[in-house]
Amino acid sequence: GCDARSVAAAVVAAAGVVGEHRDELVRLDQAIGDADHGENLRRGFGFVVSALAESTPDTPGGVLKLVASVLISKVGGAAGPLFGTAFLRAAGAVGAVEELTPELVSAALGAALGGVVARGKAAVGDKTMVDALAPAASARGADIAALLAAAAAAADVGASSTVPLVARKGRASYLGERAIGHMDPGARSVALLLRSFANSAA
Ligand code: ADP
Ligand code: MG
Ligand code: MG
Repeated sequence: GCDARSVAAAVVAAAGVVGEHRDELVRLDQAIGDADHGENLRRGFGFVVSALAESTPDTPGGVLKLVASVLISKVGGAAGPLFGTAFLRAAGAVGAVEELTPELVSAALGAALGGVVARGKAAVGDKTMVDALAPAASARGADIAALLAAAAAAADVGASSTVPLVARKGRASYLGERAIGHMDPGARSVALLLRSFANSAA
């Protein structure tokens, strides 16, 4: 089942993946931003792991809400508030249930996307994390593992789709055509997180 403990374990695993990909994310952000995305996320998820070790909430929604509040309070820049809002809206979408269902996971992904768009005002094609999260939120699956695998695959395609684009939001938008040829770091991190969640659910 997908209870609070398994969601917390999935978040801890995702924090490990963020740590493993820290340098890659820094390099992506070095090309079209200010080179801090990998460190911002590594640090933020490090605080998340510490908070979960101290006390694990007793519902999946509680875990997601804790992730949100840590990311919002500890991670600066654009991505902290955006990821924080995504997790906060996802928490709201799943409510206080004891176990997640595929329908709730799907609702959580849709709510996460809604939060990022409400906060950052980016559309698909603006070369942001929305390019990975929007196709992921449309993914479907018969069970949570299949749904998250489809979401992760869609996010990978979405992240790759940012490579030839000019950015219309965030720091990369200052670069104009010089952003062409580089993957958006936030889209890559969304794809990494979803891949990790899918692996945890499998
Ligand atoms: P900063 O740009 O403040 O240094 P990060 O490097 O941590 O913050 O995060 C950059 C990422 O944030 C970008 O790669 C992009 O995916 C995402 N981003 C920036 N602005 C927006 C926005 N308005 N909407 C959605 N995502 C955004
Ligand atoms: Mg940056
Ligand atoms: Mg920065």
